[in-house]
This record gives sequence, C-alpha cells and structure tokens, in this order.
Amino acid sequence: MTERHPNPEDFDLYAFGALDGEDKVAFEAHVRSCAECRQSLQEARRLSSLLGLVEAPVTPPSAVKEALMKQVRRESAERKKQMAPERPRRASWSLRFALGFAFAAVAMGFAASFFWKEDQWQRQEIKALQAQIYSTQAQVNHDAAALKTMNAVVGAADTVQVALVQQSSSMPGQAHVLFNARMGVVVYSGEVAPAPAGRSYQLWLVPSAGAPVSAGLVAADQQGQSVVVHLQPGMTAKAFAVTLEPYGGRPQPTGPKVLVGALNG
Ligand SMILES: [Zn+2]
Repeated sequence: MTERHPNPEDFDLYAFGALDGEDKVAFEAHVRSCAECRQSLQEARRLSSLLGLVEAPVTPPSAVKEALMKQVRRESAERKKQMAPERPRRASWSLRFALGFAFAAVAMGFAASFFWKEDQWQRQEIKALQAQIYSTQAQVNHDAAALKTMNAVVGAADTVQVALVQQSSSMPGQAHVLFNARMGVVVYSGEVAPAPAGRSYQLWLVPSAGAPVSAGLVAADQQGQSVVVHLQPGMTAKAFAVTLEPYGGRPQPTGPKVLVGALNG
C-alpha cells in the first residue's frame, strides 16, 4: 500500500477521467488498498455524475484537460506553500468551476449534434421543396405541350369536330371532340352530371373496324379544361363515346353509353 493518501483533487480528476500516466497508476494502486480513499472516490464519482459527467469513460477534450491540470497544479502548489497539516477532503470551488466548464464543453458537443440533426432536417425540407418545384415545372411543361398540341389540332385543316350527345335515359351532359387522325390526337371538352361513387367516365374512339380504343378517363366537368389525348396516328374513327365504367376505367367498354357522337360520312 502506498503510504500517502492522494491529493483531494485527484479524486475529482480521476472520476472525470482526467488523471493519467504515473499519477493514475499510483492513484489506482493506492485506492485498491485503502478503504478510506475508495469511499472518497465513490463520493467524487457521485459528484461528477451530478455535474452531468455520468458516463465514466468520458474523454475530456485535451484543451479542457490541460486547463484543468494546470489549475489543479497551481492550487496544489499554493496549498503546499500554506503547509496546511490537515486539509478538508473536498474539491475547491475553482476545480468545481473547471469541471463545470468541462460539462459545458460536453453540452456544446450535444448542441453541435443537435444542430447537425437540425441541418439534416432542413436539407430534407429543401429536397421536398425542390421535388415540388420540379413537379410543378413538369406540370407547367406538360400544360404548355398540351396547349401547343391543342393549337396545332385547332389550326389543322384536316381536324374534324364531333359533337357528343346525351343518350336517352343516361346522365345528362354534352361534349365535343376535336380529332386529327394524321396526328392521332383527340381533344375532348364537355360536361356530364357527376359520376356516381366508385364509377368513372371513360372516352373511347370507335374505329371504322375493330374494337373501341380507350382515350382515357375524363372528369365530369371538362368544360373549361380540355383533355388532350395522344393515340396511334392514322386511325380512322367512325364515332366517339363516353361510357360510365367501374372506377379507374376498363380496357374495353362495359358500362352504359352516356354520350355518343358519330363522324359525318
Ligand atoms: Zn488512502
């Protein structure tokens, strides 16, 4: 057993993980064989845990550790000068202050990680906004393209206009289609009574020969917003029709004809 008890501040330094080298070896050797100092170490550990330095293997930043050691050595030297024969076994205020400073450094570490997370979150927000902008841009591009196609269809001499009329005992409505066979483009606009729940309106091109070709779903109110549909160019149509289909539409018409319009000749 080492004869002398360690300096009182060594208990705090050790509990904080700031004691190293020969000092640490000597301290540990002494504490192993001295019940009184084991007791003191326990108290130091309890105090350092109160300061928030709970996890034992906390490695203090070297700058903090250095400042701490410097402070402790200065105090030790002063104490030796005073030659106090029996010192009360408690850490000085300045050491507590140094530990508090170390605690602040740990808290800064937590704050840094918090801000890093905050930053990640902001990055995600920015990504979401960018996605929104891209999607809006895509919509604008799509609308611009649709408008361009519509203008081309309206301006073309070989475009035909077909009036779609309400069929007896069906939903009230009316619509018309601009069709350009060469371009394979159908422009639909019109209005029908709202579809019953779970049903959709579907537009069909009825060719001169063969089965109807789906031109996609249309909303009940397409009066102000024309639908531009691209089909295979070169198809000859004899009629257009709107049917009421199960929600989402069907590959072939299954429901009642709501609106029908035949091409002249
Ligand atoms: Zn001892």
